[in-house]
Amino acid sequence: MKKHIEEMISKIKSFLNSLADIKKEQKNIEINLFNPKINANLMAKFAKAQKRLMFLDYDGTLIPFKEKPWEARPSKPLLELLQKLTSNKKNEVVIISGRDKDTLGKWFGKLPINLVAEHGLFIKERWAGWKVVHFPATGWKKEALRLLSLYTDQLPKSFIEEKEYSLAWHYRLSDPLQATVKSKELMDDLVNFTASRNLQILHGNKIIEIKSVYINKGIAGSRWFAKQDFDFILAVGDDRTDEDLFSALPEHAYSIKVGSFISSARINMESYKQVLKLLSNLVKIA
Ligand SMILES: [Mg+2]
Repeated sequence: MKKHIEEMISKIKSFLNSLADIKKEQKNIEINLFNPKINANLMAKFAKAQKRLMFLDYDGTLIPFKEKPWEARPSKPLLELLQKLTSNKKNEVVIISGRDKDTLGKWFGKLPINLVAEHGLFIKERWAGWKVVHFPATGWKKEALRLLSLYTDQLPKSFIEEKEYSLAWHYRLSDPLQATVKSKELMDDLVNFTASRNLQILHGNKIIEIKSVYINKGIAGSRWFAKQDFDFILAVGDDRTDEDLFSALPEHAYSIKVGSFISSARINMESYKQVLKLLSNLVKIA
């Protein structure tokens, strides 16, 4: 009987401990939603600053997430907004995206804007041409392609996107339930595949991407803030890949995660609409 009670007590204790852990965890994941006070602070800092740097992700940040990526071209109002933002000489604007350089160049090449394509593989500084910052190895691609094709065969409407230095497996058009199962299986296989190689797996929104560990938005972004001093820095993004940038930023920077997810960003915003609202307020400031 005594043993039984002791066991009960120990069970209750461990239950209470796990409750305390959950509470602690909740504190860590509390998110700081964008609000009028933050907005006022941000606007005031922006107004005071003489050198401003802004990193803007594209998909899911400046436009809603589209099932068909080719339908996600920027609208005229968005281009006008970026035109206004970039025409102010105090503003240095960087579109930092996972998209390929040709698409970004076609969409934004006419603006006085900086572009980062494929999460940092290609960089185009204002008015200059595209540059590759680091040439990663590609010997792994053939074998990885074989692995990915196994999964495209198994999951209807999934497809592979082959880029120069990376591979992506898309499943946004596939049956969601089947896709969840298959993407988990593929992730397991890829963890094994990448274990002994300098590769990273990025599991984004309905996309799994494999690329060199030496390419990420944080390394790419530091190209701007490492060599110059900016008195205002803002970074906005919605995806896992934006986290690399958020954690690389100097302490005084504003980082905004779009969506109510846990993030290393300082602030969360509910939707891309709030981002557009903020930017349209910023363009009014000289
Ligand atoms: Mg995005």
